[in-house]
Parts: sequence; C-alpha cells; structure tokens
Amino acid sequence: MTQTAIIVGAGLGGLSAARGLEAAGWQVRVLEAAPQVRALGAGISITENGLSALDELGVGDAVRERAVRSLPEGIYTDQGSPLQEDFHADSSAVHAIHRGTLHEILRGDREVETGMRVVSATDASGGARASVTIEHGAADPDSTDARSERERRADRVRGTKLGRRIHRVLEPGDDPIDRKAERRASRDQVRAVRDARFETLEADLVIGADGIDSAVRKALWPKARTDYSGATTWLGVVQAEADSPAGPRMYLGRGAEFGMEPIDGGRVYWWGMALARMGGHAEDEIAAAQRQFDDWAPEVRDHIAATSQAGIIRRDLWSLATRLRSYHRPGVVLVGDAAHAMLPTLGQGGNSAFEDAATLGILLEDHSLEQALVEYDRERVERTQRFMAVAERIARTNTRMRSPLLVAARNGLLNLTPALATEIAGDWMLAWRSPRHTS
Ligand SMILES: Cc1cc2nc3c(=O)[nH]c(=O)nc-3n(C[C@H](O)[C@H](O)[C@H](O)COP(=O)(O)OP(=O)(O)OC[C@H]3O[C@@H](n4cnc5c(N)ncnc54)[C@H](O)[C@@H]3O)c2cc1C
Repeated sequence: MTQTAIIVGAGLGGLSAARGLEAAGWQVRVLEAAPQVRALGAGISITENGLSALDELGVGDAVRERAVRSLPEGIYTDQGSPLQEDFHADSSAVHAIHRGTLHEILRGDREVETGMRVVSATDASGGARASVTIEHGAADPDSTDARSERERRADRVRGTKLGRRIHRVLEPGDDPIDRKAERRASRDQVRAVRDARFETLEADLVIGADGIDSAVRKALWPKARTDYSGATTWLGVVQAEADSPAGPRMYLGRGAEFGMEPIDGGRVYWWGMALARMGGHAEDEIAAAQRQFDDWAPEVRDHIAATSQAGIIRRDLWSLATRLRSYHRPGVVLVGDAAHAMLPTLGQGGNSAFEDAATLGILLEDHSLEQALVEYDRERVERTQRFMAVAERIARTNTRMRSPLLVAARNGLLNLTPALATEIAGDWMLAWRSPRHTS
C-alpha cells in the first residue's frame, strides 16, 4: 500500500522533501501556512554539495541552466583592498540564483495546500499514527515583513500556546487564548469551536519543514531554544551595474560585512550584515543601510543606492541554540531550518536542506520507515551540526568583531592564508555523498 506523508512548510526544505519522497513512491501532501507559496525577494548561493543533492532530487540541471555559475572574486576590506583573491578550485564555484526562480523550479506543478497553518503535531508512539493539527483561518504568519520582530515573536509564542491549548475549553468566537472564556464554555461549545477551527490530519510520516520557528519541533522537542545572533541583515536585488562583480565578493569591516554576487536575469543580489539591537526597524530601510555602510567602498554604496524601497528586506538573524540529538520521533522527522537553523555566514542553510531532503528520499526507497529515520540521523545530525558550529565561528570573526585591533589581526591573517588553503578547508563541506553511493 502507498505510504503517506504530510510535509509542513513549502520553503526550500519542504518543496525539496516533496520531490525526494515522491521519487521514493510516497504520496505527499504539502501544507503551507501562508496564503501563497512565496520566496524571499533575495538570492541564494548553491554550493557543490547542494547541487549534488539537487541532482538527486531531479532538478540539478534546471538549476544549472538558470543560475549564474562563478568563482568567488575575493574577500576585501570595507574600503575595497583585497584580503584574499584567486579562488581557482572548481569546487569553489557557486551557482547563484534568485530565490523566486529556485522555488519555481523546486515546486514544478506540485499542488501546495496554502492557508494551512499547523499549530501542533503528535508522533506515532502508543500505536497511533503521527498527526498534525491545522488552525483554519489563522493569521498569515509572515504578513510579518512589515511588522516588528517583537510582534513576530509574540505571534510565535501565541502559536505555541495555541497549540498547547487546543484541547482546552473555548467558547465559539472567542480568542482561544482567553483563559476566562475557556473556563466559561460548555463541552459542546468547545467541541463546536474546535471542529470548525481545528482539523487533525494523520499520515505515516510527518515532515517538519516549517523553518526556524517550527511548530512541529515545538510540539515534539519542546525544550529546543532559538537565539538572536546580535546582528541584522539587509537584502536587496538590483540590475547589474558597471561596478557589479562577476562572482561573489565579500567585504569585511568592524562589526559588519557586505556581500554581493550575480544572479539570474542580469541581476545582482547583495546583503549587508551588521550588529544591531533585536527588532530594530526604520521607516526608510535604504537610508538605514546607507548609514551603516556610508564609508565603505564605492561599489557597496552604489548597490544599496540602486535598490528600490520595495526591493529591500531587513531580517534579524536567529539560529537554533539547542543542538538536537536526534532529528526524528516515531513517524515524525525534521528537515532544514526546523532541525538545524544556522547563521547564514557559511551559506549552508539551504544547501543542507537539499541534502536532508535527498537523503531522506533515498533512505525511504529501500529501508523501512523506522530504519530510514535511524539512518537519517546517522547521515545528518553530525554533519549539519558541524555546519552550525562553523557558521557560528565565522560570525564571531566577521560580523561580531568590533575592536580595530582584532579586525586588523583578522585581516592580516586572511591576507596570509592563501585562497587555496581556504578552498581545501572547505572540502569536507562541499563533498556531500548521497547514501546511494556510501551504502
Ligand atoms: C540572509 C540570509 C542569507 C542566506 N543565504 C544562504 C545561502 O546563500 N545559501 C544557503 O544555502 N542558505 C542560505 N540561507 C539559509 C536559508 O535561507 C535557509 O536555511 C532555508 O531557507 C531554510 O529553508 P526551510 O525550508 O527549512 O525553512 P523556511 O525557508 O523558513 O521555510 C519554512 C516554510 O514553512 C512555512 N511555515 C512556517 N510555519 C508553519 C506552520 N506552522 N504551518 C505551516 N507552514 C509553516 C513558512 O511559511 C515557510 O514557507 C540564508 C539565510 C539568510 C537569513
């Protein structure tokens, strides 16, 4: 009999997992909380390992066709003096692509059920099947772009509480977190509200691909905590200019870094990271980014200035502070940021989500579900947590370094480290081997 999976979240991890499981012969439903499937208006760098995983998922060539492949141009000081150049190894090449284009490729013509916010999940212990509970008509969790981080956090907390209180007493029409109303209501009223508002769906496997604030993780790994990195980031996409780079460029300053790279459609994706108070927002984010980088190299300033107000995004950077010992429970598994949200400094969050999805699909082809989940942990936990640790280390030496003396020492060291050594050091990261080849 065909086995069934519910995938929570239609981000890079969820859409990739849908491909992996369908290839393994599973019947898949993808549930997305937002009213449409959508991608951040920014670019993403896909490295060799991510591309191998995308090959396994059947979309490697489509990505190669649309993305811009280039070798890194180098790392520079904030004033544009070279610290490291001459990246030659083929494996250092990145495929950079707009996230919208990548989403389109990963999704294909797959149906995604939107407006389906999962608020709780159960595993398959005690003979039951794994399940998720949907809250119909819930607010779009990500109408958040224009809202403050504080409000978003309040929403996350509310989401968790709501999940826990589904089985409590509610009166029709009441906000389910109104405790007094919960106590007033009769059992029938509770049932009526619950039935209209919440729906429980079962499957052989629930895949939590719902990002850093995963409702699936909160339900089944309740002790896991996220952490604010102390840094915020502005992201923009502009048409290439005369001083745009032909490959990824990074600029390192005091307590800040800036990067840019060419992507599809003759465009350039840039990002600027800087130490900042959590939840800070400006009326005019272009002006805020300009203030942050106003004495940096001219090309940095040019790219910010070329960005439209509607085209700039600001995101505070969070990561998962808790290292999960296992990414599965009976009948439930986590992929992508839900399992191992890391800082973007290593550029491996998305790439590792592709690896997760490809690994899971391959393991489900020729193992029982239970064995596949055990193998999945073996393949994924150590590797992804090494990514998390390296990303954290890079954040310490790049963005978080404020002292001029330390910045000078770091820059000197980068100057002395040949690019080749950096390339070799990254080999373990770039060489993802599919379990098909290792078994
Ligand atoms: C500034 C920045 C730059 C980055 N650059 C790179 C890079 O160059 N290369 C790279 O590999 N990675 C990069 N990353 C990391 C990468 O973006 C993430 O690791 C990746 O997007 C994670 O994908 P995901 O599908 O696990 O989670 P998400 O992208 O967060 O997707 C989760 C999905 O689940 C939905 N969802 C959430 N909650 C629920 C719910 N309760 N019910 C139903 N649906 C829900 C969301 O709406 C969303 O669609 C970067 C990250 C940042 C912040």
